[in-house]
Amino acid sequence: MKYQEYVIRPPSEARSFILQVTLGCSHNQCAFCGTYRDIPFQVKSLKEIHKDILMAKNYYGDLRRVFLADGNALILPTERLLKIIDYLKEVFPSLQRVGIYSRASDILLKTSEELKALKSAGMNIFYVGLESGSDKVLSIMEKGYTHAQAVKGCLKAQESGIKLSTIILLGIGGKDLAFEHALESAQMLNTINPRYLSVLTLTILKNTPLYIKQKMGIFQLPKPKELLEEMKIFLENLNLSGCIFRTNHASNYLSLEGILNKDQERILQELKQALKVGFLRPEFLRSL
Ligand code: SF4
Repeated sequence: MKYQEYVIRPPSEARSFILQVTLGCSHNQCAFCGTYRDIPFQVKSLKEIHKDILMAKNYYGDLRRVFLADGNALILPTERLLKIIDYLKEVFPSLQRVGIYSRASDILLKTSEELKALKSAGMNIFYVGLESGSDKVLSIMEKGYTHAQAVKGCLKAQESGIKLSTIILLGIGGKDLAFEHALESAQMLNTINPRYLSVLTLTILKNTPLYIKQKMGIFQLPKPKELLEEMKIFLENLNLSGCIFRTNHASNYLSLEGILNKDQERILQELKQALKVGFLRPEFLRSL
């Protein structure tokens, strides 16, 4: 497979064939994100995509799961995405699930009919990095949309039958906005009630504007215990139904999982216990 750097995918797509249909991210401005900073956004030609699909067929045989990369592949016109899915189904008759990274604002660019067409073609899940529910944080981090717009986009996808896997980034409010970030992120998630919710911890990368802000003292990353206090406020204010919650990403200091609200009390107890005894993942075992 001819991949072009950097290829990232959600942990739950580890067994999927990763198909790059775009390169980079069309937004590429989030202050904390260094993934595609030097990669100009590009749309791959259908010819190249078909070639990659056939190579995967030769290598793996029939496949059931495909993930469309890179950073926000949903920005592609719906017609093009449908053509790609049609070809995937032709080559992989057992195909059951197609996932994709999407910005919440990309969803708003699609009509409900387009989203339903994607869903009935086999696109079952959007991975959306919401990062924060605080408008101040979203603005400082140049996320490119507001709390209200993110909620609108997410609800629109879910109303079309597409499952959402959402991500909140611990520490992204810095020390100054930690409380606001935790509280307003919980409020945002309560309105969306996604199928999946993952919490990751911010890692400040050297090739990002946030690194410069940190060096200048404008942004201060909370300490590990403060990050867990932030997660406690977030969890205490969540009110979800049937949401699969995970903090098992390698960036986190503590791994928790369960179904919210069913397991909320147990998860909070585990978190409080970790705070009490200071049992956190050591730095050398953490990664992006
Ligand atoms: S939208 Fe996602 S991939 Fe694009 S710059 Fe922001 S965090 Fe990075």
